[in-house]
Amino acid sequence: MTNKEDLRLEIPSYAFISLARRGMEKISLDQCFLEDCDNQDSNLLEPFKKEVQEDDKKITKKIHIKCKKCNRNFILKLEILKYVAKSTKNEKEEPLSMGIVYALDENENSLGHIGYF
Ligand SMILES: [Zn+2]
Repeated sequence: MTNKEDLRLEIPSYAFISLARRGMEKISLDQCFLEDCDNQDSNLLEPFKKEVQEDDKKITKKIHIKCKKCNRNFILKLEILKYVAKSTKNEKEEPLSMGIVYALDENENSLGHIGYF
């Protein structure tokens, strides 16, 4: 059985978009990324499935989300790059990781790179 509340916790609340020289913009991931849908209500977004792949460089999580406003599904793809800046001096230190988030439609066609988390 899938616990839907746990799936919700897998999704970062925000992503950061780089705006060239104007710094970073913070955007909420509680929104539907499908075309022609303006749903930004997390109560109308229901994560229902997770796929995880891991290799030595990154962890890829795909969270499938149902939008109850447009009644379509989309996927948030979270790529967590490992060991971005691992310290060579202190072995006990947790390596820094970096995440990139993409939106996909339900057929896994890319809707674009959203940002970093
Ligand atoms: Zn929608």
